[in-house]
Amino acid sequence: MRIGIGGIAHETNAFSPVSTKLESFERREYAEGQAIIDKHTGVRSYIGGMIAEAGERGADPIAILYANAVPSGKIAKSALETLRDRLIDGLLAAHRTAPLDGIVLALHGAGAAEGYPDIEGEILRAVREVFGPVLPIGVVLDLHGNISEEMAEYADVLIGVKGYPHVDMFEAGRTAFGLICDMVETGSRPYMRLVRLPFLFAPGKGLTIEGPACDIRQRLLRAEQGDEDLIYGTFFHGFPFADVPIAGASVVTVARTREAADRYAGEISEYVWNRRADFDCRVIMPAEAMDKAMQYAEGPVIINESSDNSGGGSPNDATWLLREMLERNLPATAFSHICDPEVVRQAVQAGVGGRISCLLGGKTDRLHGDPIRLEDAYVKTISDGRAVCLSPMGKGSMMDIGLTVRLQIGNVDVVVSTQRAQEMDKRPFEIVGIDVTELRIIGLKSTHHFRAWWKDHSVAIVPCDPPGVHCSDLSQFQFMYIDKTYYPFNKEREWHFEV
Ligand SMILES: [Zn+2]
Repeated sequence: MRIGIGGIAHETNAFSPVSTKLESFERREYAEGQAIIDKHTGVRSYIGGMIAEAGERGADPIAILYANAVPSGKIAKSALETLRDRLIDGLLAAHRTAPLDGIVLALHGAGAAEGYPDIEGEILRAVREVFGPVLPIGVVLDLHGNISEEMAEYADVLIGVKGYPHVDMFEAGRTAFGLICDMVETGSRPYMRLVRLPFLFAPGKGLTIEGPACDIRQRLLRAEQGDEDLIYGTFFHGFPFADVPIAGASVVTVARTREAADRYAGEISEYVWNRRADFDCRVIMPAEAMDKAMQYAEGPVIINESSDNSGGGSPNDATWLLREMLERNLPATAFSHICDPEVVRQAVQAGVGGRISCLLGGKTDRLHGDPIRLEDAYVKTISDGRAVCLSPMGKGSMMDIGLTVRLQIGNVDVVVSTQRAQEMDKRPFEIVGIDVTELRIIGLKSTHHFRAWWKDHSVAIVPCDPPGVHCSDLSQFQFMYIDKTYYPFNKEREWHFEV
């Protein structure tokens, strides 16, 4: 059995001033053919899961192209078209060598390009156009995907992760690949039902360890365990910051009968709708979070700056939380990391043991706080910024935050990097010689992914969510294209599931 695998993944934040080009994919992850297999074998990623399932099923995963850029602004039209065409050409070339029996793609779900507000719909349309209506096509997606009717039309199965943090990427990749193998072996097709809700909410309320999204996840799992007709269900949170007409929450079920697909899609989506008010968010400034964190006698307490999450397209150079930490100047506090290549270059020039005066952060736009003026900051360490990820989310993959320095500013240790990334684990601190177990307060930039590792390595987590392109208070944004009749923009909105 020959199954073509690959993907094009991007979470687009329309409010980011950083446009996404072909080089943006090449910088984070771009691979073709065997290089994809080599990179993902044994890694807890979507592709890693597909490879593992292929091994189990005795199938040949024919890797074509996998491109994944750090979330940022709209994708350039030419970049999307180039990636799409290379993927199609690669699939066709493999098919000519020996016919493919199916295709499984990892597409994030919240990608938007100039001229293509739904890149996943466009990629799937192009694949279907070339391979016709019969070839089984499976897709694995991030739960932040904005799922369109086109995606459901062109794919046979849409499988999303259920966890935020996305600790189940590997399992979701396995499931999608296994379902396509089943389709090839049996010749039968499962039923899929998509329900799009008139409801938008920001990632800040999407945590699936506790809260409303956790309750919805539990309900989905119970439904899957309680009825063997239901194969898999996903609650897609959606991603409002893509600012596209299809942005919104949705539920997708894959089942052995049409009746089960409809029934569970209806039950879960009605439950989501009834919980909608539990997802409302407000701005939380760092001072409030610092006051809370200081109440703990022991450390480390984590303060996460949710609104400057590079994983949601933020610049990673906001100064709101860092400024507050520097002003309080408490012993045993550290911050990682702020992305500022200019400051890293200056520190490297000064060398270890040197001192620098400069403006730090706040350089991408005016929304994320003003630059911080540093006087005589001490350069403690310089690192290449690379280490193998420890987190259950993406374990075994390579963290690479580029050339990185540790500056000591008063009592506070500050990690400054040249690449954007979230703190998935202690590595960004460790590579510059900071022992996180000795810290009282740690500041970092992430919304929820950091929790997969840090929840077991901290005494408490205190979020802050100041202004920024990933702030969860949607009333802060001037949306252009999303549907304003959706909740929470229209609090009176009514909706009922219809079979
Ligand atoms: Zn996500």
